[in-house]
Amino acid sequence: MSTEGTPLSALVERADAIYRDYSLATVRDWKARTGGLAVGFMPIYVPCEILHAQGVLPVGLMGARDDLEIIKGDAYYQSYICHIPRSTIELGLSGRLDCLDGVLFPAICDVIRNLSGMWQMLFPDKLVRYLDVPQNFEPEIGGRFYRHELDELARSLTERGARPYDAEALRASIGLYNALRREVRELYALRQREPWKVPTSELYLLLRASVVIPVQDATQMFREYRALIAEDASRVPLDQARVMLTGSFCEQPPIGLIRTLERAGCYIVDDDFVQVHRWIQSDIPTDGDPMQQLVMAFLQDAMASPTRYIDKGEKGADLILRIRRSQAEGVLFCAPSFCDPALLDQPMAVRAVERHGVPWTAFKYSENTGQFQVIREQAGTFADSIKLWSAV
Ligand code: SF4
Repeated sequence: MSTEGTPLSALVERADAIYRDYSLATVRDWKARTGGLAVGFMPIYVPCEILHAQGVLPVGLMGARDDLEIIKGDAYYQSYICHIPRSTIELGLSGRLDCLDGVLFPAICDVIRNLSGMWQMLFPDKLVRYLDVPQNFEPEIGGRFYRHELDELARSLTERGARPYDAEALRASIGLYNALRREVRELYALRQREPWKVPTSELYLLLRASVVIPVQDATQMFREYRALIAEDASRVPLDQARVMLTGSFCEQPPIGLIRTLERAGCYIVDDDFVQVHRWIQSDIPTDGDPMQQLVMAFLQDAMASPTRYIDKGEKGADLILRIRRSQAEGVLFCAPSFCDPALLDQPMAVRAVERHGVPWTAFKYSENTGQFQVIREQAGTFADSIKLWSAV
């Protein structure tokens, strides 16, 4: 039964429209309504709570799709590099991001670091912050360093015209983001249990929209979606292979790629898409010093990632845990072309999944990939072979 014209399809279409809107109309509306500042952030994670507590709208910048013509962006980067910095420059230079009062660049790789420098030169009147993050997770060492970074972030927002930092306001904001994180976790858990009810192509659109709209609206959107799919009896299980998709934590794949994987017979039961609201894995306590709670959450409760140093643990162990938890039958290593963190990590991750006898396949994409036939055949063959093996 088609869901066309239903409240469910209307909600997904709303998310899709936000995902497609390069000019950030919802952000412009919010600014016109509230008079507040809006500050963009690049993947993977920034503590949005601090921005929110100071009256600033955090706006996730996740690159573009294949419908953005890159005219100037290519001139800033060499050929052998991922696509997201080019499209971000293009969006900035074409004026589409003019409504942003600044952009935060979290430390994940050299490309993002360089982009922050370019942004500083291109937009000298805007707030530009490279948010350095610790790779040491001792509270006295990495924690102190990160605390200093967060205090500086709060100070620079105030300098820019945001409300001054206030601990009570931050506690309230942490509470709101906890609620949002819970919704996202619930939806991921539901998809693991019943992937036919939560197509990843829908979940992805919701995630993309959720980084652009205010936190309460995002929480409400996820809640509504869960309520609507619970009522939808038309979603029934199909004979698809359960796969985990990993490697796409920064530059995001085009929605067409996700639809292709689903049509090729894959239920994606875990993924690395838009991790900002999953980076911290459980509720952040709202008592005590809230800034310190953000620090401790980052040190002790953040997701494993190729961008995060592993000291004592074993590379790939978290991937295996996620495979087990999601009962994935296979792994799709699906990384952006030329993404150093993802692709340098991949051989170690492959070794881990092979040690555990989990089938895998790998392919690369770019955010502007428009042709999916080869990936469809590869993913379809992979899904078929999983079904055949599991039947033996
Ligand atoms: S896609 Fe990879 S290489 Fe490119 S900016 Fe993101 S993390 Fe860095």
